[in-house]
Order: sequence, then structure tokens, then C-alpha cells
Amino acid sequence: MFVRTGVCNLRCVWCDTRYTSWEPQWADRTVESIETEVLRLAADEKISHVVITGGEPTLEPEHLTDLCVRLSPRFHITIETNATKFLPVEAHLISMSPKLANSTPPAVSDAARAHDSARISADVIRSFLRACDGSASRDCQVKFVIEQESDLEEVRDLEHAIPIPREKILLMPQSVEPADCIRKSAWLRELAARSGYGFSPRLHIERFGNRRGV
Ligand code: SF4
Repeated sequence: MFVRTGVCNLRCVWCDTRYTSWEPQWADRTVESIETEVLRLAADEKISHVVITGGEPTLEPEHLTDLCVRLSPRFHITIETNATKFLPVEAHLISMSPKLANSTPPAVSDAARAHDSARISADVIRSFLRACDGSASRDCQVKFVIEQESDLEEVRDLEHAIPIPREKILLMPQSVEPADCIRKSAWLRELAARSGYGFSPRLHIERFGNRRGV
């Protein structure tokens, strides 16, 4: 089950949830009401995994911390974050997705400048890696969204500069359209294997297209 927060501090040009970033929409919810709804839906559907995503969930640090404390005894909790803000939160998997240069909007806009200066925070990535290091109950991964093969150069630079353990790195295709996503996945899966990285499919796009509520 996905719990999606409604605002993001980045503006990826290909954002697949523009209703959380470029044109944010949200309903004000209490943590209690989210917990109640998750428990109800999970019981109906026999769900054991909850992914808290966005937008950017760490922008609501107190509410995110509270929600994780409430849900983690019953569910496997993943937090998806763009890794621009560190939070020592109680979750089983921290799935970081720092954004590569391919995410930056056309260069003349204020949004492009703000996005480009914020998209990589090496200190935040290091802090999440350290928080998971040696922990038996908490893991982390670093997922890069790939548009084309040449993006791998930036991945390799970040891998060495931060540094990021290679086994923590996953490559995922950038796509919001099923046929394009399947086509990109075919070459990217092979490229990831050749480069020693993991591969993450974009299954929700392949199966349902870029639709909400699926
Ligand atoms: S970080 Fe995620 S939610 Fe934010 S703009 Fe980029 S793709 Fe969209």
C-alpha cells in the first residue's frame, strides 16, 4: 500500500506525480486518520508492506516519525525519499532516489536553478547510509532514474565521490508510458548487470500506465 504525501521540494522535469510537485494537491489528514485507514485497507486486502512516498515525505518530519512509530510494529515500512533531507526515522527500508542532471528542467527558469542546486545532497545520502550500516532491522538503497546510457557516468561519479557501496545502487528507467518503459527496461536491465548495479523495474507504469489510485 502506498501512502503519498502531497508536496515536494524538487521539480523534476519528468516528475510522474506532478500533483505532488509542480501542481501540488493534497487533503489535510491527521496521522491518526491515516493509521486508521491503512489498518482498515490492509485488513481487507491482507497487506503487509506499506510504502510512504511523495512528494517528499521528510518535509513533514514530526508526522512522518509518528506514522512510522505507529505502523512499524505491524507492517514492513519503506520510505521513498529524494534524499535531500535526513531524518532518523523508524523504517525497514530507506529507498533514496537522488536525482541526476537528466531531471533538471530547461535551464533558464528559477525552478531549474533551485532544482539543480538541491537535487544532490552528499551529506544526507551519507547520513542515511550510516544510519542503516550494520543494522539488522533497517536497510537502505540508492535508486537512480536513468534516461539514457550516458547517465551512467554521473552515477559512477556519485558512487565514488560520496561514496555509495555498489551493492546499494539500483538503476530504474525514466518513463511514464508503458511501451516506452518496457523498451527502456530491456536495455537498462542488461546495462545494470554489466555495470554491477541492481535494476528496479517501474512495474506500476508497465501494468497500469501513469494513473492514480491503482
Ligand atoms: S523528487 Fe519525486 S516527487 Fe519530487 S519532483 Fe522529483 S520525481 Fe517528482
